[in-house]
Amino acid sequence: MNALNTTAEALLDDRPSGSDGADQMGHLVTGELDLSHGVALYLDDITVSFDGFRALNKLNLTIDAGELRCIIGPNGAGKTTMMDVITGKTRPDEGSAYFGSTIDLLSMRENAIAQSGIGRKFQKPTVFEHLTVFENLELSLKADRRARSAVFFRLSSEQLDRIAEMLTLIHLHSQAQRTAGLLSHGQKQWLEIGMLLMQDPKLLLLDEPVAGMTDEETERTAELFLSLEGAHSLVVVEHDMKFIGELTTNGPNAAKKKVTVLHEGSVLAEGTLADVQANDKVVEVYLGR
Ligand code: ADP
Ligand code: MG
Repeated sequence: MNALNTTAEALLDDRPSGSDGADQMGHLVTGELDLSHGVALYLDDITVSFDGFRALNKLNLTIDAGELRCIIGPNGAGKTTMMDVITGKTRPDEGSAYFGSTIDLLSMRENAIAQSGIGRKFQKPTVFEHLTVFENLELSLKADRRARSAVFFRLSSEQLDRIAEMLTLIHLHSQAQRTAGLLSHGQKQWLEIGMLLMQDPKLLLLDEPVAGMTDEETERTAELFLSLEGAHSLVVVEHDMKFIGELTTNGPNAAKKKVTVLHEGSVLAEGTLADVQANDKVVEVYLGR
């Protein structure tokens, strides 16, 4: 499910839930987001099995509030499964997962997790191809979930400003009235990132965001992510080591920025890019190939 589906579903699905622990809106009741302890995401001993195969095997990961964390690792390491667990798409067999210090992700449905402030970008861009760039962003605005006609609401001047700011941020200002289907692959990726950001997520999960982009688009994407760091926490999964290099050697905490290497469902190594690049096990399973 993509971000916009989540929004559309949120707009349309206001059926009260009958299950225990759910409020009238169908959210499971959970804490307010609390980042005051400095932790944005906490995964503890997460295990996910598919027919006995452990896609995640006692995975531990802590992301600080405002941190930009890059995650690398071979295909099949469990990177996407980890995002599936965080977003409620896959339930782990064991472990715990918290967003901030209070929000227990494993007690929540996918929809409620998205609403709580976690945005996810899948590898393939999933924009509404027949709508304009502007309309795509408009649709992503946080709207009152009870308003079934939210799609047709009139934009306030604040909302118009917000869309204009976003168009600039994602380098699509001159393309605002263009049909999204006509954008380049990289531009579609940016539009989807913009659609995610319109919902003001505090934690962003980005799965191979620069796959298929040109070098120039990749560089601009690095700049964009670096500009989000601090106000947002970002988890970026990528194979493009040049891109990882740009993300980790720029920005406020460049010297201390961590890269996590996943392998066979657990953390194989974690440290600065230089640390993990010099790690023999990492070279053996990933970088050396
Ligand atoms: P990555 O994103 O690091 O390439 P994935 O998280 O997609 O890795 O996959 C980890 C492992 O789990 C792979 O071996 C994959 O085949 C397996 N896997 C992922 N999802 C499923 C599923 N729904 N059913 C069965 N196996 C799965
Ligand atoms: Mg993957």
